[in-house]
Amino acid sequence: MKRTKIVCTIGPASEKPATLEKMISAGMNVARLNMSHGDYNWNSRVISNLRAIEKKTGKPIAIIVDLQGSKARIGELGVRSYELRVGQKIIFTTGNSILITHNSITHNFKIPIAVPNFHKYVKKGAHLLIADGTIECVVERVTGKDIHARVILGGELKSHKGIAIAGGSLPLPSITSKDRKDIAWSKTQDIDFVALSFVKKAEDVLALRKLMLRKLSFRTEAELPGIKIIVKIETREAVHNFEEILRVCDGVMIARGDLALATSPEEVPLIQKELIEKCRRRAVPVIVATEMLASMERAPRPTRAEASDVANAVIDHTDAVMLSGESATGAYPIETVRIMSAIIQKTEKSRFDDLSIGGEIHHGNPEEETALLAAMQARTEEAKAIVAGTVTGHTARLLSRYRSEVELIIGTPFTRVLRQINLSWGVRPFLLPEVATRKELEEKLIAQAHASGFKKGSKIVIVSSDHPAPHAQSFAVVKTL
Ligand code: PGA
Ligand code: MN
Repeated sequence: MKRTKIVCTIGPASEKPATLEKMISAGMNVARLNMSHGDYNWNSRVISNLRAIEKKTGKPIAIIVDLQGSKARIGELGVRSYELRVGQKIIFTTGNSILITHNSITHNFKIPIAVPNFHKYVKKGAHLLIADGTIECVVERVTGKDIHARVILGGELKSHKGIAIAGGSLPLPSITSKDRKDIAWSKTQDIDFVALSFVKKAEDVLALRKLMLRKLSFRTEAELPGIKIIVKIETREAVHNFEEILRVCDGVMIARGDLALATSPEEVPLIQKELIEKCRRRAVPVIVATEMLASMERAPRPTRAEASDVANAVIDHTDAVMLSGESATGAYPIETVRIMSAIIQKTEKSRFDDLSIGGEIHHGNPEEETALLAAMQARTEEAKAIVAGTVTGHTARLLSRYRSEVELIIGTPFTRVLRQINLSWGVRPFLLPEVATRKELEEKLIAQAHASGFKKGSKIVIVSSDHPAPHAQSFAVVKTL
C-alpha cells in the first residue's frame, strides 16, 4: 500500500475517462486542473468524468483548481515563433513592438512584454529567463520602455511564454482579473482545493479566502467543508515569508519550476527540504511539484536522476509528489503514474523514509496530544492501524504528520473532507455517517477496521471524541479486534 500521494495534472493526454481510470488504479490520488490551459467547458467535463469514476471505483479523488496568477509573459509576437540565436542583440519593449518582414526575414523586431512597467524592474546586467529558462538574455541597457539585451541561451521564442528576472521579483497583483473569473467558476464546481500561484505574503492568501467564502452556502469558515487553499511557493518573497503564509493556508505546493527562476537551481533542493519539514511540523499537507519524471513526457522510462528525485522527496517526508506535463500532455501518462508509484513503494519499504515519532513537533492542545498518544501507542503496542473519525479533517492531518508505519484509516461524514484528507500522507479515508455518541463512533470505527480486512486478534488504536471539533474531548484507546 502506497503512503505518499500522487497529484496528476490533467490535460489532453489524460482527459479520456478510460485513461483517468487507469491512472487512478495506478496510484493517482489527486487531480490538478491548470487554469492556464483549457476552457471552462473542458475543465467541467473533466471534473464530472472524475466524479463518475470516483463513484464507480469508490476511490476518493481530490480535485485542485490551479489558478494562473500573475506570471510575467511575452506578449503577442504576431509570428508563430521567432528564432533567437546566441550573441544576437534584441530589444524587449513594454511600449509598441515593431515587426518588419522583408524577404521572409524579420528585422528590427521589438519583442513585446505583457507587463506594463516591466522595464522599470530590470537593470543593466540582469538576466532574463524565458520559457522556464530555456532561453536566456542579459540586459545591456534600458532606454525608456526598451530593454536592449543580448541572447546568451538561444531558442524558439513564442507568444505568451513566461519571462522572469533571474533571482528578481515583480510587484504584480496576487489575484488577476482572470483569477477572479476562475474563482467564481470554481465555486460552482465540485472541487476540493484551489491553488494560488505566485503567492508572496499571507495577505494574498487571505484575499483569496475572502473571495472563496463570499456567496458560499455555509455561513462561516468553521462550518466546513469549504474549498481549501493551497499556496504555490514560487517567489523569493514566499520563501522569505513562509512562516506567516503557512499559518493561513491549508496546503503548500513547492512549485520548483518558477521557484528555480526566482531563486536559483542550487537553492531549490534545500528550500524543498526546509519547507517540507515546516509543513509537516504544522500538519499542513505539502506537494513537491515539477519535472519529477519530466523525461517521461517523451520516453517510457525515467532517467536515474528523476527516479532519485521522486525517492528523495519521499525521504524528505513530503505528503505528495506531482506530475505536470508528464500526465497532461506526455506520451505515457499511465506508465508515468505506475513508475512513480513503484518508486514510492520501494522507498517507503526501506528504512530511509522512517521517522521517529514526535521529534520537534510542538503539541499545544489536547487534540494534538491525543494524536501523538495514538501514534506512540500504535508503535509500542505493535498495532496494525490507527482508526479515527474527523469532521474537519484536522485529526487526519495531525495523525498523518508522524508518518507512522501503521495504516491510517480515517472516516468523515463529508465527501469534500474525505477527498481533502486524501492529499495527506498515508491517510486512507472512508465515508462515515454522522453519529450521536462516542460509543456509536467507536463501534463504527471498529466495523471499518474489520471491513478493511484486519484479522480478529489484531490490535488497532481508536481515536474518537465526545463532541465535534473544536471543543472536543478526544481519546486514543488500544483495542484488540
Ligand atoms: P506551474 O507551477 O506549472 O503552474 O507553473 C508549477 C511550477 O512553477 O513549478
Ligand atoms: Mn509556476
